[in-house]
Amino acid sequence: MDDRTPSTGTAAPADAARVTPLMEQYVEIKSANPGSLLFYRMGDFYELFFEDAEIASRALGIVLTKRGKHLGEDIPMCGVPVEKSDDYLHRLIAQGHRVAVCEQTEDPAEAKKRGAKSIVRRSVVRLVTPGTLTEDTLLEAKRNNWLMAIARGRPASDAAPTFGLGWLDISTGEFHVAETDAARLAAEIARLEPGEIIVADQVHDDPELRALWRTHAAVVPVAKELFDGANAERRLAEYFGVATSNSFGNFTRLELVAAAAAVTYVERTQLGKRPALTPPVREHGDTVLSIDAATRANLELVRTLSGDTRGSLLAVVDRTVTASGARLLATRLASPLTDPAAINARLDGVQFFLSDSPRRARGRMALHAAPDLSRALARLSLQRGGPRDLAAVRDALDVARTMAGALSHPDLPTELAACAKSLGAVDPELRATLAETLADELPLSKADGGFIRAGCDDDLDAARKLRDDSRQVIAGLQSRYADETAIRALKIKHNNVLGFFIEVPASQGDKLLGADFRAQFIHRQTMAGAMRFATTELGEIEGRIASAGDRAIQLELAIFDRLSAAVLSAIRPLEAVADALARVDVAAALAELAETENWTRPEVDSSLAFLIEGARHPVVEDSLRRDGGPFVPNDCDLSGPDGDKAGRIWLVTGPNMAGKSTFLRQNALIAIMAQMGAYVPARRAHIGVVDRLFSRVGAADDLARGRSTFMVEMVETAAILNQASARSLVILDEIGRGTATFDGLSIAWATLEHLHETNRCRALFATHFHELTALSARLKRLVNTTVRVKEYHGDVVFLHEVAAGVADRSYGVQVAKLAGLPPAVIERARIVLAELEASDRAAPVRKMIDDLPLFSAASRAAQPATDPLLEAIAALDPDALTPKEALESLYRLKGLASERKK
Ligand code: ADP
Ligand code: MG
Repeated sequence: MDDRTPSTGTAAPADAARVTPLMEQYVEIKSANPGSLLFYRMGDFYELFFEDAEIASRALGIVLTKRGKHLGEDIPMCGVPVEKSDDYLHRLIAQGHRVAVCEQTEDPAEAKKRGAKSIVRRSVVRLVTPGTLTEDTLLEAKRNNWLMAIARGRPASDAAPTFGLGWLDISTGEFHVAETDAARLAAEIARLEPGEIIVADQVHDDPELRALWRTHAAVVPVAKELFDGANAERRLAEYFGVATSNSFGNFTRLELVAAAAAVTYVERTQLGKRPALTPPVREHGDTVLSIDAATRANLELVRTLSGDTRGSLLAVVDRTVTASGARLLATRLASPLTDPAAINARLDGVQFFLSDSPRRARGRMALHAAPDLSRALARLSLQRGGPRDLAAVRDALDVARTMAGALSHPDLPTELAACAKSLGAVDPELRATLAETLADELPLSKADGGFIRAGCDDDLDAARKLRDDSRQVIAGLQSRYADETAIRALKIKHNNVLGFFIEVPASQGDKLLGADFRAQFIHRQTMAGAMRFATTELGEIEGRIASAGDRAIQLELAIFDRLSAAVLSAIRPLEAVADALARVDVAAALAELAETENWTRPEVDSSLAFLIEGARHPVVEDSLRRDGGPFVPNDCDLSGPDGDKAGRIWLVTGPNMAGKSTFLRQNALIAIMAQMGAYVPARRAHIGVVDRLFSRVGAADDLARGRSTFMVEMVETAAILNQASARSLVILDEIGRGTATFDGLSIAWATLEHLHETNRCRALFATHFHELTALSARLKRLVNTTVRVKEYHGDVVFLHEVAAGVADRSYGVQVAKLAGLPPAVIERARIVLAELEASDRAAPVRKMIDDLPLFSAASRAAQPATDPLLEAIAALDPDALTPKEALESLYRLKGLASERKK
């Protein structure tokens, strides 16, 4: 049950325990909607009570007040005005809250009829949750808003559990499923960034997964029944109105369970309504380049480390002109592919538009007028749509027609050919009907009426004429009455109490009360100076006028429903149109980007090549351009030597600020761009597809998760060394920086050896440990490179040029001088440095290179044999020992130790 309802308090006096009818109703509705803040409609406000009020007042920064007492205690309350509620909803949802919107479902006058004390009926009309939004005001136009269900599989014996994922966006209708393992779950969540995640109670409470949920704003534990495998298939089939979910393709059991949980949750939050979804599409884990959460954050793909979207790769490369195109681009950037054929098919589309700028310009021009069709369709399918959503369908079909023209070409690449086909697949009748029926100016809400064009419907025209002609009809009646009664001053007026009435000066009133007119004019009121009358005729006209307005609205609503039904009956082809427009937008936008920024088509295949010439970092280049500086392009070659199933490692040295991090990242970004099917910022690029990409920076702060920075660095490095394959790309930036020099150097050293000998991946390794460069003598695929600098009159000049070789020194003192350290400190540092350098720090390292056995040998030897002493120590539980037992243990350990010495 819900624990937010008020406690009964302690020993409340009898009368204090009285519960008002309003509170009774509130508590009942609240307890039926646990886990949601209840927006309880009272007049022009949504009120929140008890703990809800406390949460909302904190979250929204609004005043917390009190309203009466409940069970003897004050009721905390806060409220938001209904007309501004969207804004408040938005802020609550963004913070991961859920809101149950409870409306008055009857007129207060109705309630009064049941007795003075009875209260207005209310019920929850909608649950607003972060993952089930449809309103443009609550959604980000350029991002998908995924609801993700995660189903955990019961593993055989002690194997690691697998997970079924189902994710859908009810605002666009997209729906996907996949299966993943425990190791990749976090990466999948980071890739999709769901607005809301649902999991079964016991999965939510699993201690092993708790850390994962904590990093996400809206993880909702739901009843186990949503994840019930026994009826999952039936629920899914029912949602789509098909006999069996087999008709969508083959899913694993876990995928079915997750998909069914997602749709059932949607039905529950939408109170039984079923937004239109495309049948679930299955994604295979190995078709997508796997990028874990830390790498994503680190490479600033969709937002910067500080959380801004500006300055991210996405912001710099996005040249789309439609919201759905922007969403698709973001999705592709988050999920680059691994299949060279699929990647090249996308690249063909980009190339097509690049090679024909006039055609591209024509297409993009047309797209500028394209509305957000998928979101309009979603609202219509939820009966939450308005006239402008119908207009969106009409306008999108217009754009589709123009675009189909722009795509007419004998040799269209496959992806664009499929788009062209979809663009023409909707019956033209629909567009014509919408165009003929919808008015030019459209109200936001259908309830306002006035959105159907005149001349479409005879009944509607007649009703409107009657409504609009009312002034003339009344004026005509007024002059006729004035003639008939010969009272020039007779007027027909209107007020809210009487409605229409006839008014004459008091002096003339008697005439109408007389025998001649008594039958026709019925006396209503006598005022000072005036008398008011009614006639049956006036009453009839009044009734007709009022009902004509109502009737016009009713007729319009009926037409709306007809149009809406026509749209929904074509929803599949319309969704295909939306999808095609988004794809064309992305292809044309990437072509536009390639042309304006002078990017090239990467050669993508299944080799282990990684050869990039004249590469730039798109974001750094963009910001340098604004500051007027040139970006220095650099080459990178990590391709494995011929015949070797392994890649090269570039060890990059150079002083701080030389450009090491920039160089590392630009190569990772180019791999991502290439595999998403985009051109890349380089003169030439040849990339053998990467299966997993890892990027780590030494000593990154992760205070939020409460781990020391060094610990984070090591945990992340461990993940790489355990997971990277020969097909992976690893970027390590100053690993080992977070601890003492020799510690750090040793860890970096061992890491490098492991990457070279065991992972055998392509890697870039930036380091400030110059000692590591000596390793190239032993590791044959390790290449020493350095970012060059020049010394000029005691200052350091950054050339940003990556060249073969080793940095001669770190220029730390010069960089410190640039940073403005006081001259006395700089001078002193130079002297200390000279002393240190004279003692030749590198000497012991050279000795190590000669003395230490190679890593592979070391790693084999490192397999720990069981050690009775260690086992005995591990078996101890110091907290559980009595002092006597502790002493005995000590003797026992001592015994074991001396035994080993023998
Ligand atoms: P490091 O990691 O070696 O300390 P960074 O990669 O952080 O250096 O680069 C420091 C700054 O140098 C960047 O912010 C950028 O302004 C500039 N920079 C880096 N690479 C280049 C380049 N190739 N061309 C021009 N400027 C660059
Ligand atoms: Mg750096």
